Amino acid sequence: MNLQKKVSELKGIGPKKSASLSKLNIDTIEDLLYFYPRDYEDRRELREIISLHEGDTALIKGKLILMFRGRIPGRRQTLKLLIQDESGAIEVIFFNAGHLVKSLKQNEEYFFYGNVNVSRGRIQMLHPEITKYEQGQKLSIVPIYPLTGGISQGEMRKWHKEALKLLPELNEYLPELTLKRNRLCVLSYAIENIHYPQDRQKLMEAKYRLIFEELLLLQTGLLSIRKKMNFSDRGILFSNKISIDSFLKSFPFSLTGAQQRVISEINADMESGKVMNRLVQGDVGSGKTIVAAAAMYKAVKSGFQAVMMAPTELLARQHFESLDSVFIQHKINVGFLSGSLSAKEKKETLNRIESGEIDIIIGTHALIQPNVNYNNLGLVITDEQHRFGVNQREILSKKGMNPDVLVMTATPIPRTLAVILYGDLDISVIDEAPPGRQQIVTRAVKEDGRDAAYEFVRREVGKGRQAYVVAPLIADSENVDARSALGLYDELKDRFYEFTIAFLHGSMKQTDKDRVMQDLYSGKIQILISTVVIEVGINVPNASVMLIENAERFGLAQLHQLRGRVGRGKEQSYCILISEGDSSVAQERAEIMKATNNGFLIAEKDLELRGPGEFFGMKQHGIPEFKLADLVKHIKILNSVREEAELILNEDEFLTKKENYILKNKIEKLFQNTERINI
Ligand code: ADP
Ligand code: MG
Repeated sequence: MNLQKKVSELKGIGPKKSASLSKLNIDTIEDLLYFYPRDYEDRRELREIISLHEGDTALIKGKLILMFRGRIPGRRQTLKLLIQDESGAIEVIFFNAGHLVKSLKQNEEYFFYGNVNVSRGRIQMLHPEITKYEQGQKLSIVPIYPLTGGISQGEMRKWHKEALKLLPELNEYLPELTLKRNRLCVLSYAIENIHYPQDRQKLMEAKYRLIFEELLLLQTGLLSIRKKMNFSDRGILFSNKISIDSFLKSFPFSLTGAQQRVISEINADMESGKVMNRLVQGDVGSGKTIVAAAAMYKAVKSGFQAVMMAPTELLARQHFESLDSVFIQHKINVGFLSGSLSAKEKKETLNRIESGEIDIIIGTHALIQPNVNYNNLGLVITDEQHRFGVNQREILSKKGMNPDVLVMTATPIPRTLAVILYGDLDISVIDEAPPGRQQIVTRAVKEDGRDAAYEFVRREVGKGRQAYVVAPLIADSENVDARSALGLYDELKDRFYEFTIAFLHGSMKQTDKDRVMQDLYSGKIQILISTVVIEVGINVPNASVMLIENAERFGLAQLHQLRGRVGRGKEQSYCILISEGDSSVAQERAEIMKATNNGFLIAEKDLELRGPGEFFGMKQHGIPEFKLADLVKHIKILNSVREEAELILNEDEFLTKKENYILKNKIEKLFQNTERINI
């Protein structure tokens, strides 16, 4: 028998059952072995019937003395068993379980596991789990599996026991040194004990090994992707004669200490002659754009082109407009490229990029299309990196000759996690807000606070400020009970008749979006009703109120991003969360939002609240799911895992050695559906 064989080869698994198993992603016998219990019941203690009390959950072993079938008049069929052990007897009752009769035999011994209760003075077990006692059978800790319809715990356990008989065929594939260095038990031992642990200690050993294994596959996989991407260490030597200081003087403010520090880290990378691979993390509003601009200035003045890619058209345009006005003073040409340009504009821009006339190109995904040829690309920047795939960054990089790479994100992944996920990127953190930034006052209200919230908006806008109202949907929907931008616009344009109010969402025509943005920047639009399209990048300093409808539908990270659209000017700013329903997670989120403006703290809380699976949509980011591992709980293990992964790859860079063959296969299997890993 081979572990790669279909489960249907096992005793007791027919076509119907194997179809049900397939729904649990169990196709082969090996899959079955890797399908772990979600919990355990300690059934090592056998109780005497006489010792049972009402309310106990207990395991007994007894002989079947009598069996009656009956019917409660007009109600259910009953099956009553009288069970006896050496200490006494108990009634065991099943309803509508006629099928059991066939499998039970008088005078045979069975185990019963269930709750004990007392009815009319008689001690009973209702619907206990029942298994036949086999000669010499040992008591054990029993697995409880996460199941779907069509399979019972009993069946799953039986099949696992069958599959476990094949354990000797399950080969260890982790390098011996890895096991030694990390004191891991071998695979077959781990698999046996994760299903039927002999005791708690062995269960712990098994779990540790399997968690380690899961994290190691992920980490080794991520590291080797990056190793492949780092085509060469040798990069461009940017001129050390270019002073960024003179460029920074063209801004009306002085840099924060954190900005200065990060710029000098980048500067050192650029002058080093090694390829820069740096992640800049900074909360919304921490001033990442200038940092990027400084790097672009240095690249251009050293004779290269620089490109900056943003995830949305809106953000790309905004960057273009603000940066163009700065660079023009330094005789640097800035170009813009996106899918929304007319064919003629596009062609012209492409020509100017290819000829080198444009020094800095800002745009969207259009920048990585095959028809874009750069003249002399030396620096590649991606803004809001978490929105892009590793591949996209790679394609962009390959358009130059080992250009330096800078990736920027406001997604404040806790440092420990960032090191794991971002592999060998160097990390710079802008952990300081520009001076004068106020704390945004945050309030959370229910439906009954809506009127007051709107009146608050009226007062603020009346003082000359601008406000955002954000809703989860574009248009009202029959299927989703939530507010929409268009629905709210209809409602609020009458309510706020004295103000200019407009809406914005992602499916609008580009020219319409542009007009709205222009009117928003100029102050003409006083209240903007929007979807989350404004989540990233929008920078309107005069906006002081962010009102979020159906706040319960947004995650913490998103709420924080949205709130970051206000508090960008001198005025005290406010964020109002209107929630429906009373989900406790939503309430907890609101509490956290009220308590802090610190994105890093919020990220950590988010991770706790949502769990890493959903953390910033890791699934969407293509990070494979774990069965046992948890990126938060197991952060300590992660640290050893990372060291181990590096050791493994140092010894065998591309995992081509024979002894790493299965390891390599497993990693490839893990990453097979994840060619878009967005980290
Ligand atoms: P983010 O990090 O969210 O991308 P931005 O780069 O858009 O932040 O900066 C947000 C706002 O803060 C912009 O209006 C920018 O001009 C301003 N800003 C950036 N750095 C400073 C600074 N050191 N002092 C004052 N204002 C700054
Ligand atoms: Mg930004």
